[in-house]
Amino acid sequence: MKHECQTVQEEIAWGKPLDEAHRLHALSCAACSEALARFSELDSLFQDPRPIEIPHGFVDGVMKRILADERAARPLVWALRLRLSAAYAGITIGLGLIFGAELH
Ligand SMILES: [Zn+2]
Repeated sequence: MKHECQTVQEEIAWGKPLDEAHRLHALSCAACSEALARFSELDSLFQDPRPIEIPHGFVDGVMKRILADERAARPLVWALRLRLSAAYAGITIGLGLIFGAELH
């Protein structure tokens, strides 16, 4: 992976805004465009206000598939792990509040 690609994909993975040069790179580079599309899909999934049920082991399954892909860069894997864990925790807490309120 080229140094610029790694930098751009780390910024995408961490949700940092891309500056003009990195945005142009992301639009012209196949690997970075793909990373941008994947994280955009992930973000839109987690921003959906409807409650969703995440199967047990979902995060572990995703991580196993990513780690099996030799092209995945280690910083990206950790960024994705943190984002998935945070989203999973948020959804779990949200569901707990919804269902916990119904029990009282
Ligand atoms: Zn690139």
